[in-house]
Amino acid sequence: MSFLEYAPAPESRSILNLRDAYGLFIDGEFVEGTGTSFATISPADETHIATISAASEADVDRAVAAARRAYDRTWSKMSGRDRGKYLYRIARLIQERARELAVAESLDNGKPIKESRDVDVPLVAAWFFYYAGWADKLDYAGLGADPRALGVAGQVIPWNFPLLMLAWKIAPALAAGNTVVIKPAETTSLSALVFAEILQQADLPPGVVNIVTGAGATGAAVVSHPDVDKVAFTGSTGVGRAIAKEIAGSGKKLTLELGGKAANIVFDDAPIDQAIEGIVNGIFFNQGHVCCAGSRLLVQENVHDEVIDRLKQRLSTLRLGDPLDKNTDIGAINSREQLERIRALSKIGEDEGAERWTADCVIPDSGFWFAPTIFTNVQASHRIAREEIFGPVLSVLTFRTPAEAIAKANNTPYGLSAGIWTDKGSRILAVADRLRAGVIWANTFNRFDPASPFGGYKESGYGREGGRHGLAAYLAPSSTRPRTRAAIAAAPAAARTSRTAKKGAKR
Ligand code: NAD
Repeated sequence: MSFLEYAPAPESRSILNLRDAYGLFIDGEFVEGTGTSFATISPADETHIATISAASEADVDRAVAAARRAYDRTWSKMSGRDRGKYLYRIARLIQERARELAVAESLDNGKPIKESRDVDVPLVAAWFFYYAGWADKLDYAGLGADPRALGVAGQVIPWNFPLLMLAWKIAPALAAGNTVVIKPAETTSLSALVFAEILQQADLPPGVVNIVTGAGATGAAVVSHPDVDKVAFTGSTGVGRAIAKEIAGSGKKLTLELGGKAANIVFDDAPIDQAIEGIVNGIFFNQGHVCCAGSRLLVQENVHDEVIDRLKQRLSTLRLGDPLDKNTDIGAINSREQLERIRALSKIGEDEGAERWTADCVIPDSGFWFAPTIFTNVQASHRIAREEIFGPVLSVLTFRTPAEAIAKANNTPYGLSAGIWTDKGSRILAVADRLRAGVIWANTFNRFDPASPFGGYKESGYGREGGRHGLAAYLAPSSTRPRTRAAIAAAPAAARTSRTAKKGAKR
């Protein structure tokens, strides 16, 4: 029992204007799906929120046909400047409806409102603003003058950041001139459907974005559809691998953003108070449902006991409970299935001989919950050191030298992210250079910016999202077709200037 208790401070749900049932969003309208509808529930108390349509193969076919029509007739013919106007409009509407989106996200996903309000939704708006700025500047994307859109993008996203993953997919695709069919995860469709209303409000031409809800079969129908030109998938490595096999040889362009088992490395000269906050943010942000979570703490042996004692003290102050309460630090686990997975892997950790410590939280009577947990005495061969738990569970390993830290950090099938905590800039650079991870944070963790590319090595996938690199995934370089002198002369003046500037830079 802590000395001071917080009074409940729930965010009001009255801002929501939810429907009892949601259809699919195809060709600018909500339409009934022909698959078997399903319920979306609040993971915090298992209450029913709304009924969601499931898209059958025939519905996916309708959605792809709508996207193709929109591509051929409007979106591919529109100037980048005009596409950018739509993206700016969407970004501003997201800001206007930010509180509503945050409440919908926390209700459906279980994440604390202070995260959806202060992290997810502001980043969603930032992603649309950022790519709105690119829409009329594609000649500067590093793909030569006049790069081309690919056509129809089929996109499938997971449940951990429903709206943010949607923004990571839709914003660059539209900026580059593609149209979209996107499938949200089956447990978190709600915010995507509120987003569909925003698209209507923004007057986005019908068919430019189509949202098909449903489970894995719907996702499979999207990625394997013959008229989809580009597949973008974020989710588990297992499903990513199956998709790569399925579309191999089809000529579709593919990006995969998959799982991770990131090392968060704390050296003995690190600013310890800051590192403790970074470790907490690294693995307990969003209940650890983060692909780039710092789920393996590598701590230098001589500061191990101090770090672990202080970490336990800090974790004992975290408040677990109602995701809509503004004081909540740890929300609900998104589904019963995910809770079972976390429980099973934690049990395996105990059986393997690691030492388990769990924060003393009061667990609510209904809903899906898992208290922050640390495993010490973890060996590199343990499953809890190798497999993605995707929950609020930290596996702690030790090291003595920088070389050992690097070897242990790289000893994983994944390579999405890593963190380095040290007082020495030279050490940050030397270690970062040898880590096989797509994103490396120094003296911070889990920071995201639309201008910064994000993506993995090895089983964490391939391709990058974010920044200029994120555009490349949705464009074909102009070098794929021969360019005549006449075409070069006809290129926009801005593009010609950029080529001249590059030549100048080389000299
Ligand atoms: P998942 O792979 O089970 O599901 C992801 C999505 O794929 C869902 O929409 C699901 O319905 C759909 N799907 C399932 N089977 C499919 C199939 N055969 N064909 C097409 N689509 C199919 O993953 P999850 O449990 O929802 O998400 C958690 C995983 O996502 C974790 O591994 C996490 O690391 C990863 N993730 C990665 C990133 C990244 O950027 N690298 C970001 C967020 C999450």
